[in-house]
Amino acid sequence: GPVNIIMIGMAGSGKTTLLQRINAYLHEKKTPPYVVNLDPAVAKLPFQANIDIRDTVDYKQVMSEYNLGPNGGILTSFNLFTTKLDQVMSIVEKRASSTKYFLFDTPGQIEIFTWSASGAIITNTLAATYPTVVVYVVDTPRTASPATFMSNMMYACSILYKTQLPFLVAFNKTDVVSHEFAVNWMEDFEAFQQALMRQEEGFMNSLMNSMSLVLDEFYSHLRVVGVSAMTGKGMDELFAKIDEAVTEYYDEFCPNMEKQL
Ligand code: GDP
Ligand code: MG
Repeated sequence: GPVNIIMIGMAGSGKTTLLQRINAYLHEKKTPPYVVNLDPAVAKLPFQANIDIRDTVDYKQVMSEYNLGPNGGILTSFNLFTTKLDQVMSIVEKRASSTKYFLFDTPGQIEIFTWSASGAIITNTLAATYPTVVVYVVDTPRTASPATFMSNMMYACSILYKTQLPFLVAFNKTDVVSHEFAVNWMEDFEAFQQALMRQEEGFMNSLMNSMSLVLDEFYSHLRVVGVSAMTGKGMDELFAKIDEAVTEYYDEFCPNMEKQL
């Protein structure tokens, strides 16, 4: 059956560029995906979206109509689109027999998707229908300081607990900086603490020391891959991890669903 892939990540992490890379990769493999753009404010897409939120709502018009700032305009547009989610789902269901992957790009600003009711509705609806995997995209060069790294991983951790879905961290932009340091910090608690000690002092240091104990537990179950959306490096590994995540969906998410019913 088909698989839903949802791209989530901080603004500028490379969600859209990575989605385009995945799109090109799947075309090459002769399994063209179905692509859904959920970012109402993207100026230009590098791919042809099959469903585009911008065809339904004009966020600038929403801003002026409801007297909102940019963030309010984007959030309201996103909410308006979500009221028509049943239409999206009926298209997805029609396509399900002929399409292996459904790709979802989300708004540039992460919190619009992760901390809105609409984001939760979309995620839950997709996950209730087909295997759904969250790809959490990280801007690797911008997360090379221990403090930034930790806050990015805390965010990833909170999204994992909120969505409860199979989860994969894609360290992007490895053409600029290798993600080796990140893997090292995740595998070696002391290496991370030492890096932390070199950089941070006082209150922040002790706060982060206790948080890193929480993260250590998080890391032990985490699927991680380094990619470059720019060069295409790491795509085979990315799909190997996505396959693993789909297996986890069947093993863990589906039984939970039955329990809830
Ligand atoms: P989004 O806000 O998460 O959708 O991020 P975008 O996909 O729009 O990318 C933000 C910026 O990062 C753009 O200037 C991209 O060209 C750049 N970018 C994305 N992926 C890569 C990558 O793998 N390597 C490099 N060097 N730049 C990238
Ligand atoms: Mg984007």
